[in-house]
Amino acid sequence: MTGADRLDRDLEALLRRRLERGLYRRRRVVSGPQGPHLRVDGRDCLGFCSNDYLGLAGHPGPAAAMREAARRYGAGSGAAHLIVGHTAEHGALEEELAAWTGRPRALLFSTGYMANMGVINALVAEGDRVLEDRLNHASLLDGGWLCRARMQRYPHVDLSALERELAAPDAGRSLIVTDAVFSMDGDIAPLGALADLSDRYGADLMIDDAHGLGVLGPGGAGTPAELGICWQRLPIYVGTLGKALGTFGAFVAGSNTLIEALIQRARTYVFTTAPPAPVAAATRAALRLAREESWRRERLARLVTRLRHEADRAGLPLAPSRTPVQPLLIGDPREALRLSEALLQEGILVPAIRPPTVPAGTARLRITLSAAHEPGDIDRLVETLARHYRRSAA
Ligand SMILES: *Cc1c(COP(=O)(O)O)cnc(C)c1O
Repeated sequence: MTGADRLDRDLEALLRRRLERGLYRRRRVVSGPQGPHLRVDGRDCLGFCSNDYLGLAGHPGPAAAMREAARRYGAGSGAAHLIVGHTAEHGALEEELAAWTGRPRALLFSTGYMANMGVINALVAEGDRVLEDRLNHASLLDGGWLCRARMQRYPHVDLSALERELAAPDAGRSLIVTDAVFSMDGDIAPLGALADLSDRYGADLMIDDAHGLGVLGPGGAGTPAELGICWQRLPIYVGTLGKALGTFGAFVAGSNTLIEALIQRARTYVFTTAPPAPVAAATRAALRLAREESWRRERLARLVTRLRHEADRAGLPLAPSRTPVQPLLIGDPREALRLSEALLQEGILVPAIRPPTVPAGTARLRITLSAAHEPGDIDRLVETLARHYRRSAA
């Protein structure tokens, strides 16, 4: 038996187990731009699955900015930010992101995953502890697990459990980490109460606003702005650019000192190639649209209301959420998959989200809305879903 045979034999056993448990993942191939109407695996469908909340991923404006920057800069960035990868486009985007989120400075990262890993690892060390909400995004959990500090998870938004942990004596620093809008549930973290706890116990507080930036708050400035909490009480803010902004990348915003410390210490910043300048240019164009075209947020909010109202009438128990993430909890992963496949047969794409992305026993359809949806799209979704959901419950 060759090395390759041995490896394949072991991996095949692992894959078989996944398949049997309804946990096997497959990729779909999309042709054409993002938007509610997608061509997926060669067939047209109506999607409720992307994080393109404002409808900017397929917008011609950012694409034109990207082409123009590619003409001036070329496609590649050549090196890390600290060598020669940091261009005027990156610098301007950082200033615009800082202004948008109302913070002194911002620092670009290549992805949200890397921003979260980098920040947590830069801020805590052996002897410290990280306290995370159980339903935090995988990148935050991985950041906690892969750093040298002790990782403790508290039950979802259970502030008394968190307070008990904080009250237990600990010699090192404590870093509380939370999603601002929970990515698979759509609910909003109690950021004010978390800030109070961080003050009371001298802990640091980091929030990941991947699903709030662009969507919530005046001008789309994010969840802190929505809740009216000043930046000094939420001093470590992570935003991503691949969701409402429709492009790619992420940033951390905070004090000048925080940003300088991250430039020195965040390994996922230091040891990686800078995102290409055309990506930064596209994001600048998307940021202008996201800030200025408030009608996108207003339209999105109306679509969320319509979905919840229609789902309620049809007896579909959506989880409580006022954001564009609207999950329908199913429980069993095979059943979630069956429902998702039944919808696809009718040309509607809603992904079944299964463990380990969500806790065991909470497989769901994660419905997401975009400002680019039409009211009639919502009605079609609810009508189709109601037919198949009833059938599955019977
Ligand atoms: C998507 C997401 C990330 C990761 O961002 P990428 O730029 O896609 O790597 C981080 N945190 C949350 C809450 C997310 O939803």
